[in-house]
Amino acid sequence: MIRPILDSSHPEVRQRARPVRRVTRQIWKLLDDMAVTMYDADGVGLAAPQIGVDLRVIVVDVGDGLIEMVNPELLRSEGEQTGYEGCLSVPGYVGEVTRARHVRVTGLDRQGRRIWVDADDFKARAFQHELDHLEGVLYVDKAQRLVRLPPETAYRLVFMGTPEFGVTVLRRLARHGFKLAGVVTQPDRPRARGQAVLPSPVKRQALEYGLPLLEPENPREPGFLERLRELRPDVIVTAAYGFVLPPEVLAVPKLVALNIHPSLLPRYRGPAPIQRALMAGERETGVTVIRMSERVDAGEVLAQRPVPIEPEDDAGSLGAKLAAAGAELVIDVLHRLAVGEEVPGVPQDESAATRAPKIRPEEERLDWSRPAEQLLHQIRALSPKPGAYTFYQGQRFKVFRAEPLPAAELPGGGTGALQPGELVAVDARSAVVACGPDGGQRLRLLEVQAAGRRRMSVADFLRGNPLRPGERLG
Ligand code: ZN
Repeated sequence: MIRPILDSSHPEVRQRARPVRRVTRQIWKLLDDMAVTMYDADGVGLAAPQIGVDLRVIVVDVGDGLIEMVNPELLRSEGEQTGYEGCLSVPGYVGEVTRARHVRVTGLDRQGRRIWVDADDFKARAFQHELDHLEGVLYVDKAQRLVRLPPETAYRLVFMGTPEFGVTVLRRLARHGFKLAGVVTQPDRPRARGQAVLPSPVKRQALEYGLPLLEPENPREPGFLERLRELRPDVIVTAAYGFVLPPEVLAVPKLVALNIHPSLLPRYRGPAPIQRALMAGERETGVTVIRMSERVDAGEVLAQRPVPIEPEDDAGSLGAKLAAAGAELVIDVLHRLAVGEEVPGVPQDESAATRAPKIRPEEERLDWSRPAEQLLHQIRALSPKPGAYTFYQGQRFKVFRAEPLPAAELPGGGTGALQPGELVAVDARSAVVACGPDGGQRLRLLEVQAAGRRRMSVADFLRGNPLRPGERLG
């Protein structure tokens, strides 16, 4: 249930909260309510006193998953960071606050078990902010500078984006009170092979917000420039728009055109940075805010933040994390610009630049003679869209999730001469494929999609389609 959020005029928000004695069903209900309330308000954290509950309970989600904590405590804090933050209990303002850069927090989860969380950067900031709430402290008590948002003279902002990545950014911009003068997105297109023509995710969000919408076939289309000028943007923010902007478009905003790129530029310039980083088996990527220039992804860097790639990440989950981090980063840049702060741009080191070209259709096909690790990177990079594929009984067969399997864990040690792509030791619940140059490695398939069917777990697939050892994929 969504609960009303109390603003700072309520005494409940200004008291030290009581510890929870026992994690009961009531606490579960409280945690549920707090999470939906936070998500509804598009916040990144919420403390129980903010909904009038005098208990030491917080929820935090900076885009990498929900963390619920009962009786949280700060164990360690290191380093320093200064940046802008806002609070759902202080609507319409942001303030610049110096906080620790790294923190370790402990508390109880909803099962009453002790958990520890290490958080850096923005996530560390969110935890410190919520812990303060439990002491009745608001960030405004600590802010060096408080800025009213949106002042009537606030930036007129035009947002350009197309897929889900852009929606996250657009929602955060709206939530933080930026004045959105309009949205530019790609026109309706078939969004998947053989599918009906659909509006882009960004278009759907823009319509929901009732924002003026421009959908040129491309930004060089006659008339587009005039319509963009009519929106009188001070700032353009682009996030995965899908087109290179010509110089005359970049010259339209009074102040600056910013781009959020999901990589640590100058690495992975180009249209597929998330997929390419996963395909290369990177352990870390990040987001960069640049001032747009005529050369794609080559503008001066205004802000950058690393984001770790977890072993279970695919392009979908990583994209969501990067979008959330990118939104926070661009908002921080916009706040700095709004208060008249100098935001120096750092030229990119051209000698370190690498490219992230679009995925070619032939790169979507799994070659079972490649090493298991590389196949895994390929599967993660192409999931959830378009999906890496192989052939099974002459039909396209997609693999969305898999895991490596040491040959020794297989019945019979998995030895014996096998062809790459051959199915091994198939039981009712799992399918294992031989791979590697000599067929000596093993990959366990976890989620698949047969031609004309939906995506499903291998266990579900096997219920209707017995795979037999000795059959071959590819
Ligand atoms: Zn707050």
